[in-house]
Amino acid sequence: MIKDILEKENLSKEDLLKLIQIEDPQELQLLLDKAYEIKLKYIGNKVYYRGLIECSNICIKNCRYCGIRKGNENVERFMLTKDDILEISQWIYENGYGSLALQSGERNDSEFVNFIEETLVEIQKNSNNSLGITLSLGEQTLDTYKRWLKAGASRYLLRIETTNRELFKKIHPNDEFHTFERRIKALKDLRTAGYQVGTGVMIGLPGQTYEDLVNDIIFFKENDIDMIGMGPYIIHEETPLGQEALGNILSDGKRFQLSLKMIALCRIYLKDINIAATTALHALDPLGREKGILAGANVIMPNATSKNIKPKYQLYRGKPNLNDDAIKGKLALEKSLKEVGEEVVYFKQGNSPHFYNRQK
Ligand code: SF4
Repeated sequence: MIKDILEKENLSKEDLLKLIQIEDPQELQLLLDKAYEIKLKYIGNKVYYRGLIECSNICIKNCRYCGIRKGNENVERFMLTKDDILEISQWIYENGYGSLALQSGERNDSEFVNFIEETLVEIQKNSNNSLGITLSLGEQTLDTYKRWLKAGASRYLLRIETTNRELFKKIHPNDEFHTFERRIKALKDLRTAGYQVGTGVMIGLPGQTYEDLVNDIIFFKENDIDMIGMGPYIIHEETPLGQEALGNILSDGKRFQLSLKMIALCRIYLKDINIAATTALHALDPLGREKGILAGANVIMPNATSKNIKPKYQLYRGKPNLNDDAIKGKLALEKSLKEVGEEVVYFKQGNSPHFYNRQK
């Protein structure tokens, strides 16, 4: 019985497999309610923001699912200047978000590594070292991770995408830059460097099974992960995987529901970690982020520059309605979270309790 499983303090793999296959709406509600109860116990009815800054879509890699893969010639590439990033960071700081996330395609040339390092130092200088900074800048060397940590970052999100090695191979090119082993090593290096380590997976990939997803959750626990950012796989038609997946994956509704189940199971199984209700949830359902929070997530990453989702570089210059758009989004989200009983916490970083509990 689902109810009996949900009463257990520790779930087995078999339990997780039963729960992830729930189809009955009442049983699904029991699962979501349990996850929310655990969220309230470990985190409270709180949501923390990370203002998202998409710094650049230039990438040296060619992941087969990704719209900004190097091989996609239809993408107009951009890179924000340091002043652009500082200006957006200042907005995030002044609006009390407490944390920001810098995200970009992967580059590991010294010009890029230095640029990020210098930018981090200035962001922290301008915020009196008060911002929590998450990086999502791909696989780097241990030395680079250490430099960026010293410069002011404290969290790093590097998604494993799937822990099924065969599936990992299918969604990446078959070369030395895109191996499962490299990704695992990078996650270990992040721990060694001292970050709050985040990872995550795509949910509803073609060929992915329930067992794969349950193994992903067990992987998060075995690797003592502090934060999770995961969401439904969304087809990008200009990618090889997107072409193969057309008509060959679960419906949007099913992938959305499966993603909520994954969030709920992670909250129940891992308890005191940070879990993001990601933009991909929002892409499949206008209330996706709110539903993610009610399934156990506690972090939202609002795009601090909402006009920069499909940018031309010029759009970033000269404060293009930056305040207007971002403020409207901020207020609307805060209102809808309040309606579901959740409070946005301002001027706090909202670090992973799991990270600090481990240090104790
Ligand atoms: S490394 Fe990241 S940005 Fe680059 S192709 Fe892969 S998923 Fe896309």
